[in-house]
Amino acid sequence: MALPQPQVKRQKDEWQELLAAGINRPDKLIDELGARLGLDDETAASLHKNFPVRINPYYLGLIEEVNDPIWRQAIPDEMELDHSDTMTTMDPLAEDMDSPVPYLTHRYPDRVLMVVQLQCAMYCRFCTRRREVGSRNAVTKDDWDRQIEYIATHPEVRDVIISGGDPFMLLDHQIDYILKGLRAIPHMEIIRLDSRMPVTLPHRVTDNLCKIMQRYHPVYLNTHFNHPREITPESSRACELMNDHGIPVGNQSVLLRGVNDDPEVMKELVQKLLMIRVKPYYLYQADLVTGTSHFRTAVEKGLEIIKAIQGHTSGMAVPHYVIDAPQGGGKIPVTPDFIQEITDDEIVLKNYEGKVYRYPIDSEVPNAREAKLPQAQTNGKGNGSATT
Ligand code: SF4
Repeated sequence: MALPQPQVKRQKDEWQELLAAGINRPDKLIDELGARLGLDDETAASLHKNFPVRINPYYLGLIEEVNDPIWRQAIPDEMELDHSDTMTTMDPLAEDMDSPVPYLTHRYPDRVLMVVQLQCAMYCRFCTRRREVGSRNAVTKDDWDRQIEYIATHPEVRDVIISGGDPFMLLDHQIDYILKGLRAIPHMEIIRLDSRMPVTLPHRVTDNLCKIMQRYHPVYLNTHFNHPREITPESSRACELMNDHGIPVGNQSVLLRGVNDDPEVMKELVQKLLMIRVKPYYLYQADLVTGTSHFRTAVEKGLEIIKAIQGHTSGMAVPHYVIDAPQGGGKIPVTPDFIQEITDDEIVLKNYEGKVYRYPIDSEVPNAREAKLPQAQTNGKGNGSATT
């Protein structure tokens, strides 16, 4: 008869210790923040039921005062319980509609989104996927296998985004399993991971994780800084380690009222991101998610921010400002109007200082008259054709 084997308790990594020490219940939230929280037991419990609370000690330590940009992202607010805004829904991007297998969205022709698990190191109070993020449901290994099988049988899919929740909440060997399965697909070209952990719990980015990802190149990482105060020695190290392993890091910010709806703040953020080798990629207009209306800004604010950055700092620092269109319309760029007018002979442009310049249209240039521009951008005199 085999003797029972002694239980070997695996040593937790630093990031797991930090997660375990975090706030993940309403009573802990009240204990930790006391009167500063400004919520009674009942309201804190309702908020947690509505969308769970999780804040780890690292991110909590970045808060300087009540309602500052870090606080607003992490600490629940009574306004989340206001669901009266009729413009909002729980799935504004209609991701569930385009889901041929559980937790996979196939919306664009050549790429898919894989949700590989539903937990995060912090539950951001503005989260678009709050309908499922933080829930007790688990995405299982069978779900990953079904997702990989779907991609393997759809040769048009050449690009995958691995998202969540936060994929870095998986253990290293689980991430390895998913990446290995994807890289074995002959038509799989680009693998991208979306993770906020380099920002919210940068201790997760270890040498071992980077080495695993490095095996399956080309692999990219998109992370999610919203405010310059999130750029710390720890988050800088995490992004630089990724880059050192050949994993380019991009950033996707969300425009949030009271967090980064200020041109100076965003300019500082994008400039500092380049200093840690992170390319500002997208600036999202906030999605129309139930319980997050207090974060939403006017689209004009986003345009004002892009105008304040474009030309005033390196073009590399300028993110694409996009609206992820409701009902599954996908990301649509929103740009300040630098084209003033298009005639048969020229394009009239306004630069970042408001000065007007004219670029001639040479009808002898091949294709000059073939590229059609939208009627709204022409002066109505010509046929709307021009080079751009
Ligand atoms: S890390 Fe991303 S998915 Fe997770 S709560 Fe924050 S915004 Fe939502």
